[in-house]
Amino acid sequence: MHHFALNGGALHAEDVPLKTIAEAVGTPVYVYSAATLRRHADALTRAFAPHEATLGQPLVAFAVKAASNVSVLRVLARSGLGADTVSEGEIRRALAAGVPAERIVFSGVGKTDAELAFAVGLGLRQINVESTVEMERLAAVAGRAGRVPDVAVRVNPKIGAGGHAKITTGGEGDKFGVPVEEALDLYRRFGRDPRLNLVGLACHIGSQITELGPLRAAFGVLAAMTRTLRAEGLDVPRLDLGGGLGVAYAGDDPTAPLAEYAAMVAETVGGLGVALTLEPGRLIAANAAVLLARVIQVTERGDGRRILVLDAAMNDLLRPALYDAFHDLVPVAPREGEALPHDVVGPVCETGDTFARDRPLAPLQAGDLVAFTGAGAYGATMASEYNSRPLVPEVLVDGSRWAAVRKRPTYEDMLAREPAPDWL
Ligand SMILES: *Cc1c(COP(=O)(O)O)cnc(C)c1O
Repeated sequence: MHHFALNGGALHAEDVPLKTIAEAVGTPVYVYSAATLRRHADALTRAFAPHEATLGQPLVAFAVKAASNVSVLRVLARSGLGADTVSEGEIRRALAAGVPAERIVFSGVGKTDAELAFAVGLGLRQINVESTVEMERLAAVAGRAGRVPDVAVRVNPKIGAGGHAKITTGGEGDKFGVPVEEALDLYRRFGRDPRLNLVGLACHIGSQITELGPLRAAFGVLAAMTRTLRAEGLDVPRLDLGGGLGVAYAGDDPTAPLAEYAAMVAETVGGLGVALTLEPGRLIAANAAVLLARVIQVTERGDGRRILVLDAAMNDLLRPALYDAFHDLVPVAPREGEALPHDVVGPVCETGDTFARDRPLAPLQAGDLVAFTGAGAYGATMASEYNSRPLVPEVLVDGSRWAAVRKRPTYEDMLAREPAPDWL
């Protein structure tokens, strides 16, 4: 469910007409709805409420890489969410948004010693270690710092899942996590190391997962590992179940059955008395933003094909080019008329800069505003300045208030970042 709807024949974000934002900020621009972000955070918390006796209250650590604007993070922090981060930059964003260190998880397959030292110094909730070598490096870093970080081992359960091969992370050939037997040995080896406090296991098997089966199997692996380690006298007080729940990109009902998900979690790990962490990204943010764009022109080819050229491109929204992802495209002021197939493209000089082929769309003209829905996760965070197109700005709407929370750089800003050396 989201808060982008037609009102008096014009598409709004909550109480604000998208046309108002386009006229003030220009296009392309991402527009987030604070009410939608809050609603998704609440929906997840509510789904777990009936299981409080068995599961306690999970920490919901929003995956910052999905939508990392500080104001977006601040809305979620105010709803009580923590942050799942994969770089020092993301940790700094979470802190700037008011997420306390004890609600920040540090994940990722390639943390540098400097990043590990930064995390240890802050006393984050936990550092999720993804390899034996990384555990050795972290122990050395922590020993030097004289602080004992809370650490979880990210397990690769050999169960991959997700909406596309490029967003599957838990399969045998994927680069993420430690294979089960090695993870057990790692836990045994470092479980009594005075430099580290091993607090549990973690997994994250993929993204845009729309069936519970693979998640259930992965959580079963974590539960069995927990029992094994406990039988050997090791403490396993926490499990981090990762993110990955999918959303509906067409229509507006979430496909992720949250009540079933929570019930499945209670079935698989409910008896263990562990403190849980969840790391949703897409589930919270995807349907909380649109990418607003303007039609530059409509070209009719000799073969009758219609090509809709927008002022948004793959550098602003990469998902269709990268993952063949589908985003619905809706007019901001719909016209009457028969829907005809259009190829929807941006101005970037790449064939991959194609948002959709043969998409049925009602008549559109140069100057019309359109919105890609479901653009809030892995949208603005993946944007670049390819083709020297200034980085796409972001706007946050809350009721009838709105603000540009990331400004579009001017061409002067863009060029000022590239000082020429005086010998050139
Ligand atoms: C990307 C990521 C997430 C979030 O995934 P979603 O599919 O957006 O929920 C969670 N945890 C880790 C470790 C990740 O890398």
